[in-house]
Amino acid sequence: MTETTRASAAAPTAWVRCADCGTLVYDKRFSRGLRVCPDCGAHARLTARQRLAQLLDEGSAQPLGRVECVSDPLGFVDLRPYPERLAEARARTGLDEAVLCVRGLIEGRPVVACAMDFDFLGGSLGCSVGVQITEAARTSLRLRIPLLLVTASGGARMQEGVLSLMQMAKTAHALAELDEAGVLVVSLITDPTYGGVAASFATLADVIIAEPGARLGFAGPRVIEQTIGATLPAGFQTAEFLRGHGLIDEVVPRGALRAVLGQMLRLQDPAEQAKRVERVEQPEQAEQPEQPEQAEAAEHAADPSPPDAWATVCLARHPERPTTLDYAAHLLDGFQELHGDRIAEDCPAVVGGPGLLNGQPVMLIGHQKGGVDLTERRRRNFGMPSPGGYRKAARLMRLAAKLGLPVVTLIDTPGAYPGPDAERGGQAVAIAENLRLMARLPVPIVAVITGEGGSGGALALAVADRVLVCANAVYSVISPEGCAAILWKDSDAAPTAAAALRVDAGELLRLSIVDGVVPEPAGGAHTDHARAAALLGDAVTAALAELRPWDPQRLLRDRGGRFHRFGLGAAPSAG
Ligand SMILES: [Zn+2]
Repeated sequence: MTETTRASAAAPTAWVRCADCGTLVYDKRFSRGLRVCPDCGAHARLTARQRLAQLLDEGSAQPLGRVECVSDPLGFVDLRPYPERLAEARARTGLDEAVLCVRGLIEGRPVVACAMDFDFLGGSLGCSVGVQITEAARTSLRLRIPLLLVTASGGARMQEGVLSLMQMAKTAHALAELDEAGVLVVSLITDPTYGGVAASFATLADVIIAEPGARLGFAGPRVIEQTIGATLPAGFQTAEFLRGHGLIDEVVPRGALRAVLGQMLRLQDPAEQAKRVERVEQPEQAEQPEQPEQAEAAEHAADPSPPDAWATVCLARHPERPTTLDYAAHLLDGFQELHGDRIAEDCPAVVGGPGLLNGQPVMLIGHQKGGVDLTERRRRNFGMPSPGGYRKAARLMRLAAKLGLPVVTLIDTPGAYPGPDAERGGQAVAIAENLRLMARLPVPIVAVITGEGGSGGALALAVADRVLVCANAVYSVISPEGCAAILWKDSDAAPTAAAALRVDAGELLRLSIVDGVVPEPAGGAHTDHARAAALLGDAVTAALAELRPWDPQRLLRDRGGRFHRFGLGAAPSAG
């Protein structure tokens, strides 16, 4: 979702101009130097093929088998139909998708390597990228060989809407399986890595290294500058900045990457892995998805969206809608709010604590927008959490797991806060770690989108066994305004973008993103908080009654499967 201003230095002529300092370099010399400027040391962007050729032992790469994916699941059209943009990207790059996954060797050590390609629709994370990376992780798991993720991405792919968002949960789950099996994961951050990729697999690696100058962050610099109304300091979000703030392990120049990666890969002892293969259960089959559901989703995707998607967005944002603390007051007996992330702060935009729901203990965690009072809304940062908010949620979830309490999350946020402090505090890492934690939390989790389900900031509380949505709530990979500004070049096109993104409850149910719709009082939840809470309480209670008897193995298997299926299957292109 973030664009970059750094131009590619690739050119078909014998001379290449460094995009940073403008020096002309003879093409062959530039290639020999791994496309690093001999004058200023700038690392030019590489294609996925160039990257793999530079990193892997010559002739060792073998492509991984491809898995069928949905294509254009929403029938998305902005100024141009999405299939046209895809076809153009394929023709230009010679790639099927924005990632290339292979098996190979680095300094003689086996590795499964995934290289993203920024030239393919900004390296955006869509269903196919999520599926290929998940399959690569499963190959790593099956063969017990390390996984290397080379990232370059503007974020989640808007044209695949909330299905793109689900790829963050899916890849986080795949990496959690590698953690449990003891398989090493290394990520190499290249310029730029933002949004959904930064807040999932890029930062969930055991070792994170970055090329000099590579930028990594959750929010892009332009979004942050708009938020704070000021220019960011030079070097903000660069590898060197991140190294200084404890967010990555090391900055490694391109010429030293093979040696450093080879060192890392030697940490994984093949003999030790062979022993572990016997101990750890076999990974699930790369099962084909339930075809009927996917086919149904595609059929519905071909229908024009209802014209009132925008009206739903406005209702979802209504300042008088009940907040998490309102629901807690109406629904829970003995609710005890717990504070703090035990590191540095107590984020007011996330609240949580234990209480009794119909006599049964639960851990309630939710975004807190602040309600009608503007002072309170400001104090709650309009429901936009800091990294500390996600870390507080993680702490409460671990406590719930320790005590065997089901977790109930209420989601209502425009998104994670796009500010400089949040970036310094590791916003992307905090979100990614929640996705992984929730993927493997051994207690039932029920998530309800009660208002705005804004992108990764919402998903970080929504990896659940059952995901419900209130009738007038929305769930989206990007705000309609943001999408309109980028794809329509016109923020007034937000209502059109809202319809194209398929953000409302009916569409979410048809896409199987949610499992059920919680009814609201006539006119919307804001008209009658007590009634809205009662309806939500009934839905959550019913979901928990189903999940409580399940043992942790069944919960984790089903939860993994729930997110794994998003984007799989060869559903026909819609529209
Ligand atoms: Zn240069």
